[in-house]
Amino acid sequence: MQTNANTGGYDVIVVGGGNAALCAALSARQEGAKVLLLERSPIEERGGNSAYTDGLMRVVYEGEDDIRTLAPDLTDEECANTDFGSYTEENFFDDMFRITQFRTDGDLCEILVRQSRDTLRWMKGQGVRFMPSYGRQAFRVEGRFKFWGGATIAVAEGGPGLVDALYRAAETTGIAIAYDAWVQDLVHDDSGVTGVLAKIEGVTRRLDAGAVILACGGFEANAAWRARYLGPGWDLAKVRGTKYNTGDGLTMALRIGAQPYGHWSGCHATAWERYASEFGDPALTPQYQRHSYPFGIVVNCEGSRFIDEGADFRNYTYAKYGHMVLHQPAQVAWQVFDSKTKHLLRDEYRTRHVSKVTANSLEELAEQLGEVNRDQFLKTVREFNQAVDRDVPFNPNIKDGRKAVGLAVPRSNWANPIEAPPFEAYAVTCGVTFTFGGLRITTEGQVLDTGHRPIRGLFAAGEMVGGIFYFNYPGASGLTSGAVFGRLSGRSAARFAESRRATMRNALAQA
Ligand SMILES: Cc1cc2nc3c(=O)[nH]c(=O)nc-3n(C[C@H](O)[C@H](O)[C@H](O)COP(=O)(O)OP(=O)(O)OC[C@H]3O[C@@H](n4cnc5c(N)ncnc54)[C@H](O)[C@@H]3O)c2cc1C
Repeated sequence: MQTNANTGGYDVIVVGGGNAALCAALSARQEGAKVLLLERSPIEERGGNSAYTDGLMRVVYEGEDDIRTLAPDLTDEECANTDFGSYTEENFFDDMFRITQFRTDGDLCEILVRQSRDTLRWMKGQGVRFMPSYGRQAFRVEGRFKFWGGATIAVAEGGPGLVDALYRAAETTGIAIAYDAWVQDLVHDDSGVTGVLAKIEGVTRRLDAGAVILACGGFEANAAWRARYLGPGWDLAKVRGTKYNTGDGLTMALRIGAQPYGHWSGCHATAWERYASEFGDPALTPQYQRHSYPFGIVVNCEGSRFIDEGADFRNYTYAKYGHMVLHQPAQVAWQVFDSKTKHLLRDEYRTRHVSKVTANSLEELAEQLGEVNRDQFLKTVREFNQAVDRDVPFNPNIKDGRKAVGLAVPRSNWANPIEAPPFEAYAVTCGVTFTFGGLRITTEGQVLDTGHRPIRGLFAAGEMVGGIFYFNYPGASGLTSGAVFGRLSGRSAARFAESRRATMRNALAQA
């Protein structure tokens, strides 16, 4: 058995094995609880979606000092060559309110924003190494790097590094871990939740605990639920991450009366390599990202543009543009670039796993695109090129206001005429990242029932928490949210378990 767990009584059982679960387990352990973490996947696939990330984490910082506190490996020279700017609480609140169309739950959003900096410092204390994300979130202009878009910090070795560091900390601090441990139900009676039923390596066991934390993801890997809750066509989306997040935690919590909360028909979804594997594949997934669309144009098979590619920085549009691709004919779109912006394309555009055509003229490109309406495509490019306001200088570090004026589908920034050969076009479809609908929790992380009463002994964290993200998502908030609410629910669950134990002790003493 790939586990150091036994079935003995635990104070806290954590369901899931990604960032939120690990932060919850570590936090509960810090409170002195005896903790068991149950990860559905085998050890080789542990870490859920968290393992697939770039490790980018949105965090409040006032300037270089805060960055250096999180990333002490930065050299003086690197700092001298970098403009980190700042990302204040106010900036984070503004982004959350604007991006969620003012739907985000005020109390939960406040916890996310105000605890982000302290939580990342706590993670650093757990052995997570951070660095500014120079490769992804900064452009070099006149010899200096300038960060844009509020997501400056990343885990040094990305998602795999994050997951490895947290598992290492869990093992070191004596947290019991079971892999291939598929939790299928909660043990529940009038006193609340007192354990779980888990199939561990094929054998179903009942595991008792003083409190249970659900941190086992959304339902993004469940095609039937996607069609049911997100809508028609979503069953066909590619899954960017783990195949294990099939909504089990939501199912078992709803079964005992937990309250659904948040944007159940909403999700995070991006433009994704057209012929990507059905689920994430750690070796290939990083190559499937197609996030450089702000520097080109995107057309559908009718040959028409359908999004404002430069509406905002990539961090504020990419999570909703997957939806737009899903709703195009054949669920396909093409990102088109000319040679002027080629150097700005992210590294994955230059890997083997790209569906790409190149051509030396627009007419030749139109032929290569095959399924795209040739005449309309050429008309779209011609009209776009004519509409670009060439008097405004191009600058990828700021919203440069270089528009294409007067088009039916607007273009707000970084408009570059598609005119300098060779031309390149990349085929994309929709990749779903995670779902927004979840459970309603208190500000202490405890799950509420449909009567708005806390369910004793049940806590939630990570993707399972509803009410934070609606419609869209400020890039790099998912890991921060998982860490903040994981840490919070771990602490609360440990304290709850302790008080439950004390109550039982008192009852026994009086008997
Ligand atoms: C390709 C990709 C890139 C991303 N990049 C970023 C990024 O750079 N920054 C960022 O902030 N966010 C990013 N995200 C989003 C981020 O991954 C999620 O927001 C975050 O990881 C969610 O953490 P979590 O712990 O809630 O879920 P997960 O990390 O998905 O963990 C859920 C865990 O639950 C387990 N599980 C599921 N069902 C059961 C069950 N029945 N019993 C036991 N265990 C179960 C799973 O195996 C898994 O270990 C990215 C996502 C993807 C897919």
